[in-house]
Amino acid sequence: MIPDLPADIDQIKGFLAADEAQALFEQALRASTMGPVLEIGSYCGKSTIYLGLACRTNNSTVFALDHHRGSEEHQQGEFFHDPDLYDAGEGVMDTFREFRRNMRRAGLDEVVVPVVAGSEAAARHWQTPLAMVFIDGGHSLEAALTDYRCWMPHLMRGGVLAIHDLFDDPHKGGQAPYAVYRMALASGLFESLGQVNSLGLLLRL
Ligand code: MG
Repeated sequence: MIPDLPADIDQIKGFLAADEAQALFEQALRASTMGPVLEIGSYCGKSTIYLGLACRTNNSTVFALDHHRGSEEHQQGEFFHDPDLYDAGEGVMDTFREFRRNMRRAGLDEVVVPVVAGSEAAARHWQTPLAMVFIDGGHSLEAALTDYRCWMPHLMRGGVLAIHDLFDDPHKGGQAPYAVYRMALASGLFESLGQVNSLGLLLRL
């Protein structure tokens, strides 16, 4: 049971299973005693709420990074496209409006700091050590590798790297997050904290 979890959390758009949400919350609760948490790929903020509630307990911060233009699979004509999140006037996806609404309703405006940018642009002048990095951005190999390369150097020792959407069977989903997960493990810089559903958890040594 997570205190202050919005009653309508299951109505919030997103792709996060209940056991994964619980695991994210628990990892963030421990990690955020050491520093802030960075989430890559916030979408409408479902996972951000779990991270935010954990960080609020420790007076910490979630940096919620997303360009809010949707990943490849969210674009018009793609499988995960949601017309409610399409800005027809501009002809682009816009998940930021929905994200802000969800943060305000969850009472997390003072805990969650949105960073509306691409991964590379946001990382360019980043200096703050991070206690947890949650990679849940684009699923192309290029996007997933960019997220890892840009942010892994900022993860402090003893911090947690969480990677969403690990599928060992290619029929269940794209292989890029899993490739990055295996690369991180093979680097010798991490120890496995196990896997919850499709969420991989690694401890930075
Ligand atoms: Mg995901």
